[in-house]
Amino acid sequence: MKKDNLYNLTPDNLTAAMKIAGEHAYRARQISEWLYQKDVSDVGLMSNLPAALREKLLAGWSTDLPKAEEVKTGADGTEKWVLRLATNDRKTGKPHRIECVLMPSVDRYTLCVSSQVGCSLDCTFCATATMGFRRNLDPSEILGQVIHARKLLAEKRSRLSNIVFMGMGEPLLNFDNLCTALTNLTAKEAFGMSPTRITVSTSGVVTGLKELAERFQVGIAISLNAPTGALREEIMPKVACKYDLDSLLKAAKIVGQTRRKPVTFEYVLLAGVTDRTDQAKDLVKLLSGIRSKVNLIPFNPFQGSKFRRPEPQNVLKFQKVLWDASIPAYIRWSHGLDVSAACGQLAARG
Ligand code: SAH
Repeated sequence: MKKDNLYNLTPDNLTAAMKIAGEHAYRARQISEWLYQKDVSDVGLMSNLPAALREKLLAGWSTDLPKAEEVKTGADGTEKWVLRLATNDRKTGKPHRIECVLMPSVDRYTLCVSSQVGCSLDCTFCATATMGFRRNLDPSEILGQVIHARKLLAEKRSRLSNIVFMGMGEPLLNFDNLCTALTNLTAKEAFGMSPTRITVSTSGVVTGLKELAERFQVGIAISLNAPTGALREEIMPKVACKYDLDSLLKAAKIVGQTRRKPVTFEYVLLAGVTDRTDQAKDLVKLLSGIRSKVNLIPFNPFQGSKFRRPEPQNVLKFQKVLWDASIPAYIRWSHGLDVSAACGQLAARG
């Protein structure tokens, strides 16, 4: 039988597992310290655990994490990492691979993590869609990306400051594993990160959005990408047909009421398709009544894509319409474009 991974347990589950194994509850705290605070996953090195417990752990549990396989570093210092998982794909026979992206800025590092191998949503402008859906990541595979980044940054004498769930996959379609990963990222017995330094981005899966907002004070970003339901259905066919624009905006409004920060809307600017100023005006109307902030993402091209990057002056004009209506709008001139590490460019081989 496949052993379950210790990183898949929340602190409460780990305590319960220790009790079942006839151990003291404080052993769970000691194990968490090794796993999350000292970044040690080798049970053999957990020197304050009795040998008998270490043997029990080794016999019953795994602590394997995804393996770093390749890195591409962009001119702006962005690092795109390919990580290999322990499973093989049924169709291709090759190992499953995921990507995560480490982005430096003036005083901090942000890590963009994947939540699934591939994606099932077929958004027409996204490279991950070309891979199709392979499988959900389990919590250990999500947390493994964070542990990888923490180790890299410790070598650089730096620290991870922010995490965004904007890599491969749709986080809300992997809801339970997302919640376990968020629990371990924020629990004081585990990584103890402030939830305000974590952002979960969804393409608009309304189910789960409110529950996520109630359970975690993480930032929530919604990939709106079009100012009308009809255009959204054209460019994001699966998710937009399942969850109509009206119900998405209603959910966004409720989410906005549960936190101090405004809801972030992402909007991909596709030349001639979503970048016209009349569309910016429609967007203003759509967002009226919702405390919002907009991130404008000029389309990042990839091989085989039918869309084009917008002209810079059109991007600026679009932005101005939003600011003129008092909607904060920021342009994401993407990180790591030269190494295909930017939004929507992640598509691992295999
Ligand atoms: N599935 C989630 C998270 C992954 S995508 C979501 O859709 O929110 C992260 C962001 O990148 C989304 O806002 C998405 O709209 C955007 N994106 C996807 N493909 C892109 C591309 N080729 N160029 C620019 N942004 C893109």
